[in-house]
Amino acid sequence: MEKIFFGAELVKIDFYEIPDSGLFLSVDDAQWLPPDLERAGRAEASLLLKKRGQRIAVTGKLAVAFVFVCDRCLEKFTLPLDSDFSIELELPGDAVSEQEKDHFCHDAEMDIDILHDTEINIADLLQQQLYLALPMKKICNEKCRGICANCGANLNNDKCRCAPDRSNPFSVLTKLKI
Ligand SMILES: [Zn+2]
Ligand SMILES: [Zn+2]
Repeated sequence: MEKIFFGAELVKIDFYEIPDSGLFLSVDDAQWLPPDLERAGRAEASLLLKKRGQRIAVTGKLAVAFVFVCDRCLEKFTLPLDSDFSIELELPGDAVSEQEKDHFCHDAEMDIDILHDTEINIADLLQQQLYLALPMKKICNEKCRGICANCGANLNNDKCRCAPDRSNPFSVLTKLKI
């Protein structure tokens, strides 16, 4: 098994350069990260590539942290991500029969990507996995109370400045009873 550490330049790996014993990549720089995301500290990734016929099985790990704006309270917060992934890459062409493809597609455990050529762009692959690992909603904390739609107060830190009967949803029920 080979071990490569990314240095100043990012590595594209050709399918035919992967040894039969597999290839382990440890990525310790942040070049592969999408430029539109604000990084907070660490950015580590590792991958293991193993050839299986005309395919490469890729398993890997991402350990990164970003600064996001909370969807509820609009405050900045750090979101750490630790995620494992597992995908299969397939060479283009008719290497695999349609029938066989169908069979593999039903294997829900594995995602299969078809390569455009025999080169694997490791940065693209890591970015793709990163976006899959990011939550749709960026919330600073499960208990985040957000901001009051009426007065704009951050309800995590401030008291709502609205009139009491507007901030208490039960006041409406009370009135109904009367
Ligand atoms: Zn929040
Ligand atoms: Zn309010």
